[in-house]
Amino acid sequence: MSSTRTRRLLLWCAATDRTFERARVGGREVVVGKCIHCGARHTLGMDGEALTRATIEHIVPRGHGGQDELANLAIACASCNIGKGHRLDLRAWSDPTLQRVIATLQERRARRMREPPAWIDLPPWTGAGAGAGADEEPDA
Ligand SMILES: [Zn+2]
Repeated sequence: MSSTRTRRLLLWCAATDRTFERARVGGREVVVGKCIHCGARHTLGMDGEALTRATIEHIVPRGHGGQDELANLAIACASCNIGKGHRLDLRAWSDPTLQRVIATLQERRARRMREPPAWIDLPPWTGAGAGAGADEEPDA
């Protein structure tokens, strides 16, 4: 169901999020970790296919200029992601609640950040601001 691009971003998010660990489900090797918002467990196939309702969260919303860079991306439940979107993403940039939620998520994401472990077979990073070992120039 998820696109190649979504699978790639999910896999990169899991690879750079220390809550995501290897596991086996029904004999299948998977990656299991936590929603950036609520801590619910999410499972991805080793190809990044979402086996739970995992979505890509843009911490700084795209409508406010947030990009596909690893520090701005996290894995979130569809319901958490949609909830934030409806409640917050359309608010003015100066809105204190929006700013507080973004700051909290950025801090949490930074604490979870890690170098991608060798056991995840990552496709090339082609998003913005390649900063996890890829030798691309970050976007201006
Ligand atoms: Zn959640």
